Amino acid sequence: KAAITSVLRDEDPQPDLDWDLAEPKVGRWEMDCYGGVGRYDAVRQFLAQGADPDVVLAALEKANLLGMGGAGGRAYKKWRDVLDATSSHGEKFIVCNADESEPGTFKDREILLAAPHLTIEGVILAGLVVGAKRGWIYVRHEYPEQIERCEKEIRRATEMGACGRNLFASGRDFHLNVFPSPGGYICGEQTALIEAMEGKRAEPRIRPPELQTNGLYQQPTLLSNVETFAWVPAILRDGGEWFAGRGLKSGPLAGTAGRLVKGKRLFSVSGDVARPGVYEVENGTTLGELIDVHCGGMKDGKQIAAVALSGPSGGLLSPRVPISQLNRRFVESALSEELSDMDVRDLPLDINLARAIGFMLGAGIVVYGTGCDVLAEAVANSRFYRNESCGKCVPCRIGSQKITEMGEALLAGRVSEEQLQSFQPTATQLGDVMTATSICGLGQVAAAPMQSILKSFPELARQACRNDSREAEQ
Ligand code: SF4
Repeated sequence: KAAITSVLRDEDPQPDLDWDLAEPKVGRWEMDCYGGVGRYDAVRQFLAQGADPDVVLAALEKANLLGMGGAGGRAYKKWRDVLDATSSHGEKFIVCNADESEPGTFKDREILLAAPHLTIEGVILAGLVVGAKRGWIYVRHEYPEQIERCEKEIRRATEMGACGRNLFASGRDFHLNVFPSPGGYICGEQTALIEAMEGKRAEPRIRPPELQTNGLYQQPTLLSNVETFAWVPAILRDGGEWFAGRGLKSGPLAGTAGRLVKGKRLFSVSGDVARPGVYEVENGTTLGELIDVHCGGMKDGKQIAAVALSGPSGGLLSPRVPISQLNRRFVESALSEELSDMDVRDLPLDINLARAIGFMLGAGIVVYGTGCDVLAEAVANSRFYRNESCGKCVPCRIGSQKITEMGEALLAGRVSEEQLQSFQPTATQLGDVMTATSICGLGQVAAAPMQSILKSFPELARQACRNDSREAEQ
């Protein structure tokens, strides 16, 4: 206790938000509801007003806050499931997933550097709402600064009475710790993460059962992403309507492709843009607006050669959205004309829309400019999944190797145009089998980078082919 007090006494009494670490960005994040002054007011208020879980759940439902870890499930529903779950040992747990390992995704890194108190407050509130007394922030071990920030902030929260025993003299307890991830991409998959926390090899579990009922040590567990928790204080302070009011309600495809998601979210943008960084934008903002307004346009006057909207897991999109990448329902609908050959800049960044038309939208956007070797990037992405496969299930273990070999052969010029003809159906079949039969998301997306080359960049694949006729002439 004495040591903790002395650490806190040495600190600046004002919150050290260190926004400069998260630069460049336009303005402040609205996520920071405290504006740099004060923290844990949402916890204090929740306890002072009777600690009614329904108040929080109603606000999350009104906000329509979605999970920001990629799956995009409704946050209030997950919280409700854990609240309603019965525990065989009388314990429930909260786990914040900060094992951010998707290439091109680094928003959680910035949140934990710039404003760890927002995530910590969200985790504490989750514990109070679902009836958990213990929680962990599971941080990837390559984030030593974030681990330090979180540990420091937990000590500060404890000193303020917002964490630990008898929170704000309410009689409620919630103990929070940092758990460094043992390392490896698969350690961030939610069920593998739980296995790792139990001291086992980090291999994904087959679901169901879901973590909400059978999580850590088979007890009900609420596991969510850093950003999802970080939005909770602002939503409770300013109301679910406030958050919902932030989402764009219309857009080129809003009326026909389903309602756009409400609220805001953070995107990490990297690659050939003038100002790579983490940006808070309204759901439904177009890719063009994100690049031009927030990122200062393309670097060195380049044009877009390809875009990855979900790190490598959604494959690469060409500057014109090809009809071959739209899902069948939309190709067959009246929308196909509107959607096909659309400039990728006009694509609203909205997870519902992306799902509806057949794209993956994550939090990491990588923009490749002209001059970039798009085929080499796709092969690198393919190698990444092959290397990170845990090997538990055959379709992923063998399929990721097979698809990578195809890409490497193409890149090395060992494939003839004739052989290329068979690559497309083989890659499609392989990808379909991997998607249908792999245990976790890694195997389900491992074929996407090479599939997207064959579908959306056929000219690059052709150019890379071995020129048999030329060699014969020589
Ligand atoms: Fe492991 Fe791949 Fe199977 Fe996931 S899909 S469990 S990473 S082998």
